[in-house]
Amino acid sequence: MSYSFEPIGVVRSCFAEKFAIPRQPRLAPAATGVLELFPPYDRPEAITGLEQVSHLWLLFVFHAAASGPEHIRVRPPRLGGNQRIGVFASRATHRPNPLGQSVVRLDGIEAGRLHVSGIDLLDGTPLLDIKPYVPYADSVCEATNDLAPAPPVLLPVSWSSAALDQARMHAGRLQQPVLELIDQCLAQDPKPAYQQPDASREYAARFWDIDVRWHYPEPDRIHVLSVTRHG
Ligand code: SAM
Repeated sequence: MSYSFEPIGVVRSCFAEKFAIPRQPRLAPAATGVLELFPPYDRPEAITGLEQVSHLWLLFVFHAAASGPEHIRVRPPRLGGNQRIGVFASRATHRPNPLGQSVVRLDGIEAGRLHVSGIDLLDGTPLLDIKPYVPYADSVCEATNDLAPAPPVLLPVSWSSAALDQARMHAGRLQQPVLELIDQCLAQDPKPAYQQPDASREYAARFWDIDVRWHYPEPDRIHVLSVTRHG
């Protein structure tokens, strides 16, 4: 038995590459994007009523991750990358079927376009469905998960004065919360947990069309070095 699905739209996201995307939604509220709906779902009838909803479930394809039946055990980054658990105990991107789901905030509605924030999605992610978040059914106050008991511990992020000026300039040009986005994403420490960063090693990630470079002056502190236009 097999099923096939056609995307109903695509995510246009602040995240131009996977590195430094938060590991779950809502960890970076400044992470914004637009859900571009394909015909016929770009018609107003498809989204009538959504103005009464604050958050959405997005069901999407991990189009930039390998998937298949061989992905039965995974090594989640939050467990240090060495401990293996069953794929169904994890939210890993490498799965039997490349399906992801995220709760995001709905910030605005235009014809065929939904503005969202708090996303953990790569630019170009194919969307399979959108559903309203239903607080009384979806929020389980007695729920526990001992594999992921709390959000990641945040690292302090400092900025060089040049990087701060550059980020402000790009925020004005893009009309996006660039400083907040960089702060919120880097504070979650994008590098693999097993890496002990040398202060001389530089890391980089692309948000929108800008390259952000940083280093770790000490293992638990991030310093932003530059924020420059890509290319
Ligand atoms: N909230 C979703 C879930 O639970 O199904 C995604 C969780 S997954 C651990 C989050 C990671 O997926 C992000 O850190 C990012 O690196 C990766 N990611 C986001 N969009 C992707 C895509 N379209 N293809 C492959 N990986 C993606």
